Amino acid sequence: MIDCANGVDFHTLHLPVLVFSDLDGTLLDHDTYEFDQALPALDLLQSLNIPLVPTTSKTVAEMLPFNQKLNNPHPFIAENGCIIGLPETYFQQPDAPHIEGHTPKTYTLITLARLYADVLEILQSLRNQYDFKFLGFNDLTAAEIAELTQLSLPKAQLAKQRLCSEPLLWQGDESSWRAFKSELRQRNLQLLKGGRFWHVFGISDSGIISADLGGSGPTGCGLTSPGVLNDGLLNKGVAIQKLVDLYHEYGTRDCTTIALGDSPNDIDMLDTADIAIVIRHKDGTYLDYGVEDHPKKRVLLSHQPGPAGWNETLSAVLAHLSSNLSE
Ligand SMILES: [Mg+2]
Repeated sequence: MIDCANGVDFHTLHLPVLVFSDLDGTLLDHDTYEFDQALPALDLLQSLNIPLVPTTSKTVAEMLPFNQKLNNPHPFIAENGCIIGLPETYFQQPDAPHIEGHTPKTYTLITLARLYADVLEILQSLRNQYDFKFLGFNDLTAAEIAELTQLSLPKAQLAKQRLCSEPLLWQGDESSWRAFKSELRQRNLQLLKGGRFWHVFGISDSGIISADLGGSGPTGCGLTSPGVLNDGLLNKGVAIQKLVDLYHEYGTRDCTTIALGDSPNDIDMLDTADIAIVIRHKDGTYLDYGVEDHPKKRVLLSHQPGPAGWNETLSAVLAHLSSNLSE
């Protein structure tokens, strides 16, 4: 583990801890999507009763089986911060709508962005009007997504079940790209770069979705009153701050937040957390996080890529925090 911020002082940090982690290329291997090498640190989190909140561009439909596979009883953040998935009784909200049939058995989905159908409608109208060249998940079959992402066909089908955001590949030239970005912004849509795709989604709408995800996909979506978040931009950082606020609201005392990520869509999450862990890419490079721009922040870089780096850095940080607690 490389300590980039000279003189990181873990003695000012403490348990309890909340861990927010990107998945692809971070907890999961970029190519195989496996996480075996992270098991020691995952076990350590469970033994210390520290919540792990997967914070990802993946869909709710992908996250339900994943949280089940991890045996993770904690919330998740999906579609780059557009949705917070809360296990139904996690914060004891008796009136919240819920979904049945998964572990944890029921979830409340809080949406922070406008719904997928609206986003698709705007993208299609822009394509018709300006002949923009892009390929979105809605344009692709599950088999084509599987080929692009190396996901299995069933997992690619889950990746197509979107609630708010559209991943796309840009196929036009530089000047039309600039025009595309400008047109999106005028329509209150934003672009975020992930590991493989650009992600288009709305800003500043919020609500609660009541959805049955028992196999047929999200249905019966309904928005409550809109809310404005920061400057209107939405990202993983906004979503984790909202979730941290909920932890505080429901009685968790001040805690140390740790975020792990590897791509530009993780930067806001890394900025928001007390400790930012940048996971090395498989080709040996790192996300350009601008360590010098965060002189007072605890920024760590993993030596190893993907889940091995996740394990290495998180184990070391938790060892520091635990030893502080026992001093
Ligand atoms: Mg990633």
